Amino acid sequence: MTTAEKKLAQKLLPHARRALKCAHSPYSRVKVGAALLTQTGRIFSGCNVENASYGGTICAERVAIATAVAHGDVSGRRRIRALLITTNQKSIWPPCGICRQFISEFASPEMLVFAANSRGQISVTTLKELLPHAFDNRYFKLGRARRTGF
Ligand SMILES: [Zn+2]
Repeated sequence: MTTAEKKLAQKLLPHARRALKCAHSPYSRVKVGAALLTQTGRIFSGCNVENASYGGTICAERVAIATAVAHGDVSGRRRIRALLITTNQKSIWPPCGICRQFISEFASPEMLVFAANSRGQISVTTLKELLPHAFDNRYFKLGRARRTGF
């Protein structure tokens, strides 16, 4: 991890940790916090919110992104610059598959994704590494017949 990446992660980590404390996770007992930096320079955070009907559960990353969208700081044109997630677990947990797809709607493939464990160890990767061959709006723009492979 470069010095700039470390600095960015350390900027996002306290926001994600604050959100983690608000997690509603009575079923898994896994608390997750996420924080993202927008192109506008604002930071938004979110926590996981579980539901007795498991399908109603939403991950911290999607809560943070939806909040940023609701505030007008993230949209199809306004992108996420970086995102960090942290958990109360000893191992580092990456974003789940649904979140990877959700993130890709609002971020470039090169966007940095940080993941931290409860000990503060942080890994970094890019969205492209997490979600190669993302399904994105190009498919709608180009039409179904023109895309035949990855
Ligand atoms: Zn998720």
